[in-house]
Amino acid sequence: MKNRIYDENLYRFDTPQPSYWEATATDIAVDARPLQGDASCDVAIIGGGYTGLSAALHLARDYDVDVRVIDAGHIGWGASGRNAGFCCMGGVGVQRRDLIKMVGIDNTREYYRSQMDAVELVRSLGDSEGLDFQGHGSAELEVAHTPRAFARLVEDHDISTQQLELPSELFTADEFRERFYDSSEQYGAVMSRPAFGLHPLRYCRGLANAAVRRGAVVHEHSEVLSWRKSDDGIHQLATAGGTLKARKVIFSTNGFLPEGLRPEFYARTLPVISAIIVTKPLTESNRLAHSWLTEQLAFNSRRVMNYFRLLPDGRFLFGGRGHTTGHREGELATYERLETTLKSLWPSWSKLEIDYRWHGLICMTGSMCPSLGRLDEDESVYFGYGYHGNGVNTATWTGKQLADWIGTGNSPELPEIVKGLARRFPLAGLRLKYLQLGIGLSLWLDRRR
Ligand SMILES: Cc1cc2nc3c(=O)[nH]c(=O)nc-3n(C[C@H](O)[C@H](O)[C@H](O)COP(=O)(O)OP(=O)(O)OC[C@H]3O[C@@H](n4cnc5c(N)ncnc54)[C@H](O)[C@@H]3O)c2cc1C
Repeated sequence: MKNRIYDENLYRFDTPQPSYWEATATDIAVDARPLQGDASCDVAIIGGGYTGLSAALHLARDYDVDVRVIDAGHIGWGASGRNAGFCCMGGVGVQRRDLIKMVGIDNTREYYRSQMDAVELVRSLGDSEGLDFQGHGSAELEVAHTPRAFARLVEDHDISTQQLELPSELFTADEFRERFYDSSEQYGAVMSRPAFGLHPLRYCRGLANAAVRRGAVVHEHSEVLSWRKSDDGIHQLATAGGTLKARKVIFSTNGFLPEGLRPEFYARTLPVISAIIVTKPLTESNRLAHSWLTEQLAFNSRRVMNYFRLLPDGRFLFGGRGHTTGHREGELATYERLETTLKSLWPSWSKLEIDYRWHGLICMTGSMCPSLGRLDEDESVYFGYGYHGNGVNTATWTGKQLADWIGTGNSPELPEIVKGLARRFPLAGLRLKYLQLGIGLSLWLDRRR
């Protein structure tokens, strides 16, 4: 069984990404060390991103549980240290109207209520744990890339306000230009709340330190190489440096999930590469050239979309889909494509230099919804993954649900659509082929005016 589906280039746990976030979080050290020798605890958490760290913090703080987190890289090595810092609603792989068709209006409403709670959870953790994550902006914009897309946004706005009771505001292209920015591809937009931007790696490291302050132990540079359960019901997680023993395990590796560790998780995910570039700080004249007035988070309405935001220090962050192999040549081609797209959307920035480029994995599931729960086959194993590129709030919230479940001994009230393991992808070896076909079709649909 193959452990992971992309080129090794994506799984170098000893190498940090050359990201803007890594360069600007050097003042926050994490109180963590590699696992050496044998250790034991009640709950072991594999994966030290938002899911695992939020679970650890809530378990230690709210239930006084003896918990350890174990990560293959440094804390924030995974997507939690590499993302765009959009803390907003999402977490599913389909648009709101399609989710209603798939699972019904009641389930959709219930899900979006949990999404609003999840954004507020991040905000409140920031306050209660004193996390210095540099919150920024107060809403998220979806910008129409064609007139046809604007018609879809009008429909989405009606669904949000009338059926889902979610805050939403609509802007025509002229209104948008006056208030936010101008671009070669802007036909109006819809604005959603709650949402805000943050520094993802500062948030991740802050969560880790908060968990440690509350009594959790965090191990980094400790890849779990094998996982077995002894006859007396104790899980044994072996790394190169030692073995961690625990009564319960939370498996929270999301897009980097090692499929060979436990057969139950084989082919449950489709990891997808997403990449980001960050420019030099925009000058006053750069901003004036495109009437840039906003600090809100934004993405365009393409199926294969781009996301972007002006950072607090004036740099411009721009992200989008990556390559479908993961190898280094594909990675470099992705950065070139992103730069070309950025400069075609804002032509006056054609001379703007790019200072940072990096990539990572988001995680899709066969149900197009996040997946959270406890294994039927082994009730001492819990899991949370599959946030479809929207894990800042969803992973944090998932970690808290898992902690509440273990801490109280009872399953929390969860939205129906996130419950349990998402179904396996059929013909799992062909997952990257499905992805290539899906991207090809979506690019073709995106070209329609
Ligand atoms: C480029 C990019 C942009 C994104 N932008 C946004 C955004 O703006 N907003 C948003 O909400 N979401 C965004 N996301 C998604 C978001 O970052 C993720 O959903 C979220 O970070 C997932 O958190 P996690 O803790 O579940 O997983 P991760 O943070 O990926 O952590 C998983 C960890 O598991 C560890 N691991 C794997 N195998 C092992 C093993 N065998 N032993 C021990 N440890 C192991 C890895 O080292 C890793 O650190 C983006 C993702 C990417 C890649």
